[in-house]
Amino acid sequence: MTIIDGKKISTDIQDEIAAEVNVIKTQGGKIPHLAAVLVGNDGASETYVAAKVKACERVGFKSTLVRMPATITEAELLARLEELNADADIDGYIVQAPLPKQIDEYKVIEAIAPKKDVDGFHPQSVGRMALNLPTYLPATPFGIVQLLERYNIETSGKHCVVLGRSHIVGSPMSILMARNDKHANCTVTLCHSRTANLKEFTLKADILIVALGKTEFVTADMVKDGVVVVDVGITRVPSDKTKSGFKLLGDVKYDEVAAKASFITPVPGGVGPMTIASLLLNTLKACRKEVYN
Ligand code: NAP
Repeated sequence: MTIIDGKKISTDIQDEIAAEVNVIKTQGGKIPHLAAVLVGNDGASETYVAAKVKACERVGFKSTLVRMPATITEAELLARLEELNADADIDGYIVQAPLPKQIDEYKVIEAIAPKKDVDGFHPQSVGRMALNLPTYLPATPFGIVQLLERYNIETSGKHCVVLGRSHIVGSPMSILMARNDKHANCTVTLCHSRTANLKEFTLKADILIVALGKTEFVTADMVKDGVVVVDVGITRVPSDKTKSGFKLLGDVKYDEVAAKASFITPVPGGVGPMTIASLLLNTLKACRKEVYN
């Protein structure tokens, strides 16, 4: 059994990006510039955005943090996004979710210029992904594809079962794994809360990607020997064994499922660290105008 080390792969990718930025600098090219819009001061969002800004610094990107009060109106936020769309120095930007309830998240996603949509959530980006056209892939699914690729995990002809159909993980994951692409070409089954006899599907999975948000949901009796398991779930649960008073649990009962798996991602240290690497890759792509001229 091989543990898929997402922390290492994320660091490798960030080192590769930093090396590319050095080349850009020596050639006098444009330094990639990512902006992050943070509305309000939700604690978790502050942490995520701070990590993204820090990652930009680490690889040599420029970053801009745009802070807006929680009381902002939808029109004011959309006007600010228009400015970001028009700012030639900013290659890509993200709007950190969740947004205050007076703001329609989909209006915001649609207001982001597709060429700057480095989160890959705009309908145009999703459509281009489905058509296998060059685009920005959403960070978490993109990170999972990178993990499978870098561990040389064979995907062609395999049965990939995805648990969960959210717009940010499960649905795009199912699209990516089914594409006619070197690192895809799976036969895909997408399961959700209305799936009857879920275990019948999980038992047939060669590759099982779990994005439910239900701690330790997948147990050893649900998987076959040799399965590749990607656990996307991250839930904070109280713990008296850690200094912080909590620990992180995935959607897979790790020890018992790992005993049957050929490859497995741990939680933490598996899929989680890949999200930032994907965002940086998308920003580099945007700066190089690889998707749109
Ligand atoms: P979500 O939007 O809550 O979606 C959960 C999905 O699971 C839904 O499609 C739901 O089905 C399905 N589901 C729930 N209970 C089920 C059951 N008993 N059987 C079958 N399907 C069931 O969650 P998400 O945003 O995709 O996130 C999932 C997990 O991944 C969370 O723990 C989250 O924290 C984590 N996550 C991690 C990263 C990262 O590592 N970077 C990024 C994103 C998310 P219905 O559609 O029918 O309701």
